[in-house]
Order: sequence, then structure tokens, then C-alpha cells
Amino acid sequence: MSTEPVDYETVDERVLVVGAGAAGARTAIELVDRGVDPEDVLVIGKRSHGDAHTTWARGGINGALGTLDPEDDWTIHAADTLNEGGHINDPGKVETVTRRMPGLLRELDEWGMDFSRTDDGDIAQRYFGAQSFRRTAFAGDYTGEALLDTLVEQAQARSIPYRENVIVSRLVADGGRVLGAVGTDLDTGEFVVFDADVVVLAAGGYTGLYGRHSSRDDENTGDGPALAYQAGAALADMEFVQFHPTGMVGDRYGDDWDGRLVTEAVRGEGGRLFNSEGERFMEHYSPDQMELDARDVVARAIAQEIDEGRGTENGGVYLDISHRDRGFIRERLPRMYERFADLGVDMAEEPVEVSPTAHYGMGGVVVDDDGETDVDGLYAVGETMAGVHGANRLGGNSLAETIAYGAVAGEAIAERLPDRGGDSDVLHDRSRVHLRDLQALSDADGDEAPEALLDELRALLWERTGILRDDDGLAAGLERLERLRSRAADLAVGDRTSRSYEFALDLGFGLRVADAVLRGARERTESRGAHYRTDHPDVDPEWQRNVHYRRDSVGTPRLTTTPVEEPSEPVQAALDAEHELDYHQLE
Ligand SMILES: Cc1cc2nc3c(=O)[nH]c(=O)nc-3n(C[C@H](O)[C@H](O)[C@H](O)COP(=O)(O)OP(=O)(O)OC[C@H]3O[C@@H](n4cnc5c(N)ncnc54)[C@H](O)[C@@H]3O)c2cc1C
Repeated sequence: MSTEPVDYETVDERVLVVGAGAAGARTAIELVDRGVDPEDVLVIGKRSHGDAHTTWARGGINGALGTLDPEDDWTIHAADTLNEGGHINDPGKVETVTRRMPGLLRELDEWGMDFSRTDDGDIAQRYFGAQSFRRTAFAGDYTGEALLDTLVEQAQARSIPYRENVIVSRLVADGGRVLGAVGTDLDTGEFVVFDADVVVLAAGGYTGLYGRHSSRDDENTGDGPALAYQAGAALADMEFVQFHPTGMVGDRYGDDWDGRLVTEAVRGEGGRLFNSEGERFMEHYSPDQMELDARDVVARAIAQEIDEGRGTENGGVYLDISHRDRGFIRERLPRMYERFADLGVDMAEEPVEVSPTAHYGMGGVVVDDDGETDVDGLYAVGETMAGVHGANRLGGNSLAETIAYGAVAGEAIAERLPDRGGDSDVLHDRSRVHLRDLQALSDADGDEAPEALLDELRALLWERTGILRDDDGLAAGLERLERLRSRAADLAVGDRTSRSYEFALDLGFGLRVADAVLRGARERTESRGAHYRTDHPDVDPEWQRNVHYRRDSVGTPRLTTTPVEEPSEPVQAALDAEHELDYHQLE
């Protein structure tokens, strides 16, 4: 490898926010509202401004406003979240999110977010799966877009600087504290070293690493967890991957649409599932909660119907909302209606075909109650962090987490910022080592195409850590991962503005995250929430623990487990009250 000096740009700021989705934007807004000078903050994203995965969120954002069901309150929201999460969520974080959300939704309303309204003008709320009351606030079925538009506008009003199209490939830490980050400008190919006292990872999730997934293809590649792991922080719950029951079926709508989400709002607004024999099969799996039972329950039910030969000829089941008026469907589900109309399907007249798709990684970076990792000055928020969702996530809770933890982390960082500061010389020495690796990567002319290896990795995760898992499959998956890893040492990569360069970096993140998912899934010898082991099909009370995955002193990943804490008294009381949605009252 060359020892020539590598050119790079240095950018100084006190707080670097890596990620410009809802979580990153909300963090930056809070920092400035708590007195941090906007010039001391920089938000970066690997896409253009306002374009983050958040824009794809559809059905809604949770908060116990009680506009339609006044009996609802934050403790019941917390209880529903813990029940859905198989009681391995961090109860403190669940409480933080659920307690803060009503106020934060009102704030978004004041900021002009385009919420759908009740007849008397309040924020409307709809049912989402496994929630006892209507608490999902929404903007039609484009909630993420409306949310991010609002936050970007607020960030711009505060003059918060933003830099687009930069990919961070390494965090630099020394002596247990973060010093900054190293990135590449994807427009110019220039290297950039960010000198920062605090780094916030708001870089999204990891389900884009699955063969069939609902994410944008070049997003959710596990960058956040992989960067944090490499910097010395712990990951948790990586084995818990949510398979959304209703992804579009490629054989019916074309490969480009395979796995794309049909929002849960279709079921929330009354959509019913049928098999090819015309049976409303959820009656057999969940006679009370029916289509609105937890996502893992509905996803496994659909998978079983298909496996047992009662699926459609295209490999799905039917989702039907045609019993609702056309006007209602167009108002409540405008994007879905239009999408299917473009594909020649009239949702007001006929069902659509769906099957499960990888949708959300519940695992992520371990943080404390303020969103800080145990690497000093390194924070993680939004989908990158672990703890809120446990073994399974309630629909509408991840947008809630982005907003709530953005606010929490922003507040904590602003309070501690005056005492922070790092060593720039160490930052630059370490950065140069990584930059030489990046230089070598972009010059690599081996035999393997990064994109093809990424596809193989996606196939591996889908096959070995999909809806059903077992020890043999997981062990075989780990072996296959090792072979992929050695092939990834022989890449052919284009220049630093090429797609192949970005794919090569994504592959590095993905190999790390895949290892954490496979090992976590193998370690957890029980079934809970979204993690279903056919060789251990029951919940094991001994496993009310979180699996942590962390680099040891010689750079090898190590797994440990930690017990879960008890919920607070008010939340325990809500759990004891056993609230539950009775689906049939909706019909
Ligand atoms: C189809 C779909 C529908 C959904 N619908 C809902 C819903 O209705 N309700 C709900 O609550 N949740 C929903 N979710 C989940 C929700 O959208 C996400 O969890 C949430 O938007 C994540 O926001 P975030 O800010 O944490 O990350 P993201 O919005 O994913 O933003 C990540 C940011 O990090 C940047 N980034 C990533 N890696 C790097 C890197 N290496 N260097 C620099 N920048 C980087 C990206 O460019 C981006 O700016 C849905 C998810 C999908 C896939």
C-alpha cells in the first residue's frame, strides 16, 4: 500500500450529526433551541437535502393524544409497546418516548405539519396493529414526507448547516472518546475529515440488507450500527428483524416493486386478508385481533398460508379494502391508491396481492437514557439506536422514536457541550490510516463486483435469518458469510464518485451487521416477537435478556447478555389492566 500523503479537506464543527432523516433533523433543531450556535452544528447525509429514508414512512406516528379515544394515555401506549416488544424493550426508553410524544405531536402541529384532521379540526388518529386505541396520527399515507418537510423547514429557519452527498465510512475514537469522522464527498470524490467534539449517529437501520425488503435499495445498509461497533460501542437485539406482513408481490407487480410496502394503514382502515380459497384466514390465527394483531403474528400467518398451498399463484395472499368507499380510500390512502392505479389495479374494486417483507431492524446501538453510547461523545438516535422496540416494533413507533430521541439527545448534548473537547492530532493521525485504506479501495481492481456481493449477502440474510430460523441454517449462514468476507478482499471498485465505490463501503457495513444478526439469532435459543426459531418455538422466560455484540480488545466480536429492567409503577399498572383492541368492534 502507498505511503504517499493523502489529500483531504478538514471540516471543524462541535457537533456532527451523521444522518438527515427525522432523527438527525430533530436532534439538530433541539441543539439550536437549547442555545447551541447553529454554526457549531453540521448535519450530513449521503443523499440530497430533504431526501432521507424517512420520506418513505407512510401510515403514521404514535402519540397518546386521545383525540378519538379519550381513555388512551401514555402509560397504555407504553404497555402496548412492551407487550409488542416481548418485554425485552428498555422500559425507561419506552417511557421516555411515550410520555413525550403527545407534546411533540402538538409541537409538530404548531410547526405546520400537514396532519389529517378530525371533523372538528383536531389531529386525527387511526388504528395500527396491536394498539389498544386509535393513537396513530397521520398525514394521509405520506406521513414521513410531511414530517421531514416540516423538520427541514424548521432546520432552515434556524440556519442549521447541511452538507449533502457525503458518506461517512469511519468514526475516529481514542481512549474511549469520539474525535470525529472520516467521509468521502460522493459528488467530487474528495476525502473529508470531520473534527467534532460530539458525533450523533442518525444513520437509519439495516433491513436494506435483506433480499426482500421494503427499504430503498441503497438505504438502510447498516451504516450506523457498523460505524458504532467499529468505534467501540455495543450493539443490541440485532437478531430482531421485523417482517412486515404486507409487501407487494414481485411476480404480480414486477421485480421493481417486489417487497415494497403496502402500508399497515390499509388494514388500519379496514383491509382484510384472504387466501386463495376465499377464506379470511386470520380468524384461525387471531380471532380477536384479526388483521390488526402484531406484525409478527400476521406475517407468520401469511407465510404459513402460502407454505401450505393456500397462496395466490404469484406467491402471495389477498389484501382487500374494496368494501370501503372509493372516496374514503382516496382520502385515507392516497399514495397507495395511486400506486396501484398506475399498475392497473383499482383498490376500490379488487384486492391487491401481498406477502411478508423485511421492514425494520429493532436492534441497533446501545445508548443510555440520553442517547449516548459508552464511547464518550458518541450518540445514536432514531432507527440506529436500540432499546425502544425490543423483540418487535409497533407500527408508528419508529417515527415517534426519531422525534422523541432527537429531542432527548439534543437537550443532553447542549447541556454538556461546554465541557467537551478532543485531540485533533490524534484525529488526523488515525484518519490518515483509514484514508489510505479508502484510497486502496478505490484503486482496487480485483475480480469481485461489490454490488454482486451485496446481492449475495442479501440472499444469505433472507434465507438464513428470515421469518423462520434454526440452528443448522444459522451455522450454515455464518460459514457462508466467512466465504463472502474473504471474497470481499478481492473487489473491483471504480473511482470515488462511482456507485461501485459506495457499494463497496455498504458491503463493509453489511458484512459486520450480518455477523451480528446471525450470531445474535443463533445465541437466542427461544422464539420471541419477530425472532422465530423452529427448533426453539416457545418463549423462554430465562431469555428475558438482551444480547449485546461488541468488539473486544483484539478486535473480535463478543456476545454477552444482560437482563431487562422492570417497568415503572404506572406502566406496570397499565400492563396489569390488560388493555387490548377488540377488532370486531370496528366492523
Ligand atoms: C416503506 C416504509 C414505511 C414506513 N412507514 C412507517 C410509518 O408509517 N410509521 C413509522 O413510525 N415508521 C415507519 N417506517 C420506519 C421509519 O420510516 C424509519 O424508522 C425512520 O424514518 C428512520 O428515520 P431515521 O431518521 O432514524 O433514519 P433515515 O430516515 O433512514 O435517515 C438516515 C440518514 O442517514 C444518512 N446516512 C446513512 N448512512 C450514512 C453514512 N454512512 N454517511 C452519511 N450519511 C449516512 C442518510 O443519507 C439519511 O440522511 C417505515 C419504513 C419503511 C421502509
